[in-house]
Amino acid sequence: MSGAGGSCGSRNLIFNGTTEEVKKIVNTLNEGKVPSQDVVEVVISPPFVFLPLVKGSLRPDFHVAAQNCWVKKGGAFTGEVSAEMLVNLGIPWVILGHSERRLLLGESNGFVGDKVAYALSQGIKVIACVGETLEQREAGSTMDVVAAQTKAIAERVSNWNDVVVAYEPVWAIGTGKVATPTQAQEVHFELRKWLEKNVSPQVAASTRIIYGGSVSGANCKELAAQPDVDGFLVGGASLKPEFIDIIKSAE
Ligand code: PGA
Repeated sequence: MSGAGGSCGSRNLIFNGTTEEVKKIVNTLNEGKVPSQDVVEVVISPPFVFLPLVKGSLRPDFHVAAQNCWVKKGGAFTGEVSAEMLVNLGIPWVILGHSERRLLLGESNGFVGDKVAYALSQGIKVIACVGETLEQREAGSTMDVVAAQTKAIAERVSNWNDVVVAYEPVWAIGTGKVATPTQAQEVHFELRKWLEKNVSPQVAASTRIIYGGSVSGANCKELAAQPDVDGFLVGGASLKPEFIDIIKSAE
């Protein structure tokens, strides 16, 4: 996912589980028949502890992402993993601003924006997550929330080539309640319009906006058919063989 535009899709995978489970999932991925990298870029994002194992055993046409990294240059920050460490391990991607980190760990829009800018400055490509809670959607503030999250990134980032935006409505993550294709398209369209107005038409056209939240083998085709949905960030279904079907929905 280099942000090069075109019709590339994007798929990410968040692993959990044990070493044995991770090895099994990697085997399934390695055997999966999927479209070539020019059609769909696949990025696998295990927890930190499994990064070397996955990077070392995953097929070369799939890439690896961390699920987080520290906000500035590495130093005395016990328990954190710096962007420099990821570079040292040869990890090309990082997911930042996942709603679990924003909501459960109190990461503010500005903090996420700082993280995005720092990771990019170290040459790491970023999947930046934005999305509203159910309460915010019901209050009619979806676009205000998503725009404020995106603005905090736009204020700190000048080169969008290595940024993918993941729209993940919080109410759809891990709940089985997927956004309808119309709901997803609506927000993706508005997000692209926001980028066009506030960053540039070129960035709006070339930045991939992927959808996340209960994506499955059963709903991926309809979502993928939406004009502004450029790929998926997949959680639960990425742990199952149906992930291969989700990758194929880019065809
Ligand atoms: P889900 O997770 O696909 O299980 O809803 C998405 C995510 O964790 O971002």
